[in-house]
Amino acid sequence: MAEPLIELRGISKAFGNTRVLDGVDLTIHRGEAIAIIGPSGTGKSTILRIIAGLLAPDDGEIYIQGKRREGLAEDGSDPIGIGMVFQQAALFDSLTVYENVGFSLVQHSRLPAHQIRQLVDRKLEMVGLPGIGDRLPAELSGGMRKRVSFARAIMDNPESPDDNPEVLLYDEPTAGLDPIASTVIEDLVRQIRNDTGGCSTYVMVTHQDSTIRRTADRVVFLYRGQVQWQGGIHEIDTTDHAAVRQFFSGSVQGPIQVVG
Ligand code: ADP
Repeated sequence: MAEPLIELRGISKAFGNTRVLDGVDLTIHRGEAIAIIGPSGTGKSTILRIIAGLLAPDDGEIYIQGKRREGLAEDGSDPIGIGMVFQQAALFDSLTVYENVGFSLVQHSRLPAHQIRQLVDRKLEMVGLPGIGDRLPAELSGGMRKRVSFARAIMDNPESPDDNPEVLLYDEPTAGLDPIASTVIEDLVRQIRNDTGGCSTYVMVTHQDSTIRRTADRVVFLYRGQVQWQGGIHEIDTTDHAAVRQFFSGSVQGPIQVVG
């Protein structure tokens, strides 16, 4: 079998006295579409931030394309680029769409402004929003803001192709959207995977049934700090794992304790 693109071994992380992750093992292969699911507060976003290299685990090892990561992604040692789409689109309110999407190129490249604009235009077209570069985030709908944040995540820098995102991490990309806007985003996630060529792998945290079923190949169920179950998307309706069944039926009866 091919070498995993990303591998987490025994990852643990505590905040204060609360151990959120307690020995998580997770293997991600190139081309996989993975949904991480589980009750709120189980550490799904924390895992994404650890994979993205924005947060360091307390314990455990992370291998990116077989190379052990030391420190954080900003240290620049990862052999592949990993892009992240945040739950709130996390755009700068006072910057235009052009400035938001092209932000890292303005900061980290020596490309002339007109070339950055062209690159941004191409990404805006890819997310179905041509011609909105001069608008401010406040002038966009929630779904459009999410799409702009996708465009920013898939921006590549022609000066340093090694940093171009090969893996995308999505933190609840359809949270707070109506069902139709959610479908648009789900289609876009699939399309980005096919169109960009490079970004063929993604890991997504989501609660939304439609998003899990329409965008993932494999589902990873996280609970009590560990991966409790994983399986193909078709197995979620046939598994006899009690917690997974409870999660998908939304029942208050079962091994998952209802908090509050
Ligand atoms: P999920 O995505 O599964 O809802 P999170 O990863 O966001 O869960 O959070 C897991 C737990 O860790 C929560 O109890 C949350 O309050 C806590 N937590 C997450 N990030 C921090 C942080 N930076 N500082 C303190 N506590 C945090």
